[in-house]
Amino acid sequence: MTVLIDLNSPARRPAAPQPDAVVAAPQPEAVAAPARRSLAGLSRDGLREALAEIGVPDRELRMRAAQLFNWIYVRGAVSFDEMTTISKVLRAALAEHYTIDRPEVISEQISVDGTRKWLMRMPPAGPHDKGAEIECVYIPEADRGTLCVSSQVGCTLTCTFCHTGTQRLVRNLTDAEIVGQVMVARDRLGDWSVPGPNKVSKAVQHDDDAAPAGRLVTNIVLMGMGEPLYNFDNVKAAVDTMSDGDGIGLGKRRITLSTAGVAPMIEKAGAEIGAMLAISLHATTNETRDGLVPLNKKYKIDEVLEACRNYPGLSNARRITFEYVMLKGVNDSPAHARELVRLLKGIPAKINLIPFNPWPGTKYECSDWDTIEAFSEIVFRAGYASPVRTPRGRDIFAACGQLKSETEKLRARARLMLENGGDPAAEAAS
Ligand code: SAH
Repeated sequence: MTVLIDLNSPARRPAAPQPDAVVAAPQPEAVAAPARRSLAGLSRDGLREALAEIGVPDRELRMRAAQLFNWIYVRGAVSFDEMTTISKVLRAALAEHYTIDRPEVISEQISVDGTRKWLMRMPPAGPHDKGAEIECVYIPEADRGTLCVSSQVGCTLTCTFCHTGTQRLVRNLTDAEIVGQVMVARDRLGDWSVPGPNKVSKAVQHDDDAAPAGRLVTNIVLMGMGEPLYNFDNVKAAVDTMSDGDGIGLGKRRITLSTAGVAPMIEKAGAEIGAMLAISLHATTNETRDGLVPLNKKYKIDEVLEACRNYPGLSNARRITFEYVMLKGVNDSPAHARELVRLLKGIPAKINLIPFNPWPGTKYECSDWDTIEAFSEIVFRAGYASPVRTPRGRDIFAACGQLKSETEKLRARARLMLENGGDPAAEAAS
């Protein structure tokens, strides 16, 4: 069963129409409203600049930014009022010019398996931006909680098995919008520090490896919508903010960047971002991969793997994850498995087999379970960890490659409801 909580219900937002009706009938006043800028998600530098803009003297900038950073990222402050270590005068100035608003949550869906998916709308970036919508997924497991965040609105790569690829790119997300997704998740999960006058952080980790005790979001994967290496600077800034030990404090070994294989950026990503790396490989020949990941026409398998061999910090303790989606009759034979092992020789690697998650209109099917097991066995016997990724949140369309579809479906329904004067029977008949 899926629980869909409509956060725009009249009780919460009296003046707002249904969320999908907003799309069908845009509200011009929402676009024109002069907005105070939110500081939520900003980097230390961003906070310093915001403080300088309202006249905080240079000599205080560092200290004031550190205070804000702590209130925002350790304690999850939602208003300047609660920032009791900051003078009342400065708090009033901050409130006059800024907010700490998060991206707006339009809906929250909770899967039977505990997976949660949020549809979020970013504040308009300009007069013609209606507010980009993205999805973010939380996957709880026994020993960790992984948050899958988006780096772009939509994606340009058009991988043929991925539903996100059917949506046209709207824009890159800013670093604050990427970090904002983590803030929303922690808000909704109650994952901030213990409340009270002497707020204490819930075991923020400075150590890359240790499990953040008592925390619900323990890992972040840049595996939502978008290609992170096509939004390099913002992803780098976001990873810096998320991993800062004085804030959210998730070490870089707990943050994984997944790329379809932008070969020339891979080494740079290792050197400058320093997160764990995942490569969406999915095929063992250029011919097959060209058909699945069109980016392969630009950066061939050999080139991508060469970049992986040069990934800074690569070792048996810091392996690269190769993602391999199991597509029936396309890439799933024992011969493919053996070829995969041959290709990866010498690279400290884990191979993550992903059962294909179908979406409406796709031409692909998921491999049979026996086929997946046989494939996994060959890879495992060659000495690689080869876990099969359990599909999570399929009932709420939150699984890999399914993002956005449910939203579009909902929208189409809302439009029909409007066109039919809200008559559900007419909707059902159409
Ligand atoms: N552009 C990056 C980040 C997106 S990650 C990348 O390609 O790595 C999304 C992951 O989900 C990728 O490994 C992608 O190949 C996988 N995926 C996409 N569609 C899928 C589907 N329908 N079923 C299973 N996995 C899918």
